[in-house]
Amino acid sequence: MINNKFNPELVAPCGMNCAICKAYIACKDGIPRVRGKITYCAGCLTRPKNCYIKRGCKRLSKHQIQSCSECDTMPCEKLARLDKRYRERYDMSMVENLKLIKFKGIDEFLKSQAEKYTCPNCGDAICVHDAKCLACSFKRKS
Ligand SMILES: [Zn+2]
Repeated sequence: MINNKFNPELVAPCGMNCAICKAYIACKDGIPRVRGKITYCAGCLTRPKNCYIKRGCKRLSKHQIQSCSECDTMPCEKLARLDKRYRERYDMSMVENLKLIKFKGIDEFLKSQAEKYTCPNCGDAICVHDAKCLACSFKRKS
């Protein structure tokens, strides 16, 4: 399946796919900050600031590696914490994402993301944080 919503430029070093992140979708679609809770982000890779994972990781911040998938000791403590939170709250695992990227390649990863997170109703990306499509409100089955 070809879906340009899912592309390598939107895959963060930590294994997060920004295409399904609420902050990215909100930014891309210009969703109003209803409760002042939504932050806007154009994607982790384009963002100038260091993220939670990048800060405190010498390999990432010194550009020795571009992604945690290249790290031999992955997951570090920080990533493990983030991964746990995402598994529990959002039914998603950065570590599983990174393993898929490492062993099957980024294309296979993006293909599986498109299968999992393309809205069957309108074709937009389903938001991992809300478990629904923010464009048409289609709810993802869990
Ligand atoms: Zn939709």
